[in-house]
Amino acid sequence: MIDFEVERIQEFKRLLNEGEHIVLLPHTSPDGDALGATGALAEVLRAVYPTKEVFIVSPDDVEDYLSWLPLEDNFISFYQEKERAIKQIKDADLILHLDHNQVKRIRYPELIDAVYDNKQAKRVLIDHHEFPDNDFDLVFSYPELSSTCELTFMLLKALEWDKSFITPQASTLLLSGMVTDTGRFMYACFYPEIFQHLSELLALGADYPMIIDRLSYHNKEAQLRLQGYMLNEKMELYPELGTAILTLSQAEMQERGLSKGDTEGLVNLPLTIDGINSCCFIREDKSQIKLSLRSVGDFPVNQLAMRAFGGGGHINAAGGEFRGSIDEAKNIYLYELKALLEEQN
Ligand code: 5GP
Ligand code: MN
Repeated sequence: MIDFEVERIQEFKRLLNEGEHIVLLPHTSPDGDALGATGALAEVLRAVYPTKEVFIVSPDDVEDYLSWLPLEDNFISFYQEKERAIKQIKDADLILHLDHNQVKRIRYPELIDAVYDNKQAKRVLIDHHEFPDNDFDLVFSYPELSSTCELTFMLLKALEWDKSFITPQASTLLLSGMVTDTGRFMYACFYPEIFQHLSELLALGADYPMIIDRLSYHNKEAQLRLQGYMLNEKMELYPELGTAILTLSQAEMQERGLSKGDTEGLVNLPLTIDGINSCCFIREDKSQIKLSLRSVGDFPVNQLAMRAFGGGGHINAAGGEFRGSIDEAKNIYLYELKALLEEQN
């Protein structure tokens, strides 16, 4: 499916060989794919190059719902340890951007500035979102792939290191991102190679039962009750537009003792209704509104996210941020949805 050009793999290998201080960056509010890919690649790099400094600098903490991911030490959350995180970026001579296509997706101005202020570091993009920025030294951008984890696995194979470097733990991390970014192999996975990669990762020791168990059977009671509340009280359907809207305010989250991660997956629920093929979940966070968009079929919610909120993502899963009220966000969403649907007809 994908043949990496030999020259680009050699260039990647050269950058990895020459880098002494390597920093891996996932995007803000890192999901299973961003954490899986950075975690796995960091683990393999530490095994291949035991004397090098290899750090993951995450803009935010790991949410509870992913706390079981087997991430090793050398994981720094900027949110918790600002100075330590900035120092790692300043000292880096190689920065690997995973699961995001633009530096601004690391969100915090101090982090973004630290990246741009570091003129000595080479910067490599490893990602599967459309429209990557053009300010990286080396780009591996494959929007046709399920996940950055799958891409990372393919790159690790192309680097032709000994297979033993891809440990069971790294394999579990890689599989975690493939599972989460495909909704457990329900979308973004309709090509044969992904199942070969799944099979190879299982053979390398990836703990698939554990992944499914952690993702499926460890919800908090409040999370499940939230689903009931959202579906009963909050879901708004617009059958003429084939869309649904869910909204959740700060007050509602605080009343129920919920954190951001507890809302994971809500946006998918309305899509199971016949005739509903897009959904927008609007969540009021402390300093902004966060939008999650999903669709089934060929309706491109990434285009909608980009036009309405300057966001982005994939055809069937996208997001954005907005400063204003929930109602304003809702109106903008409906306005842009109508416009896009009219253009398509
Ligand atoms: P989620 O709804 O799970 O937060 O995000 C779904 C997809 O949209 C992910 O691929 C994510 O990277 C992308 N995405 C989410 N929020 C934003 C955003 O604010 N800006 C951009 N460019 N992409 C986003
Ligand atoms: Mn991803």
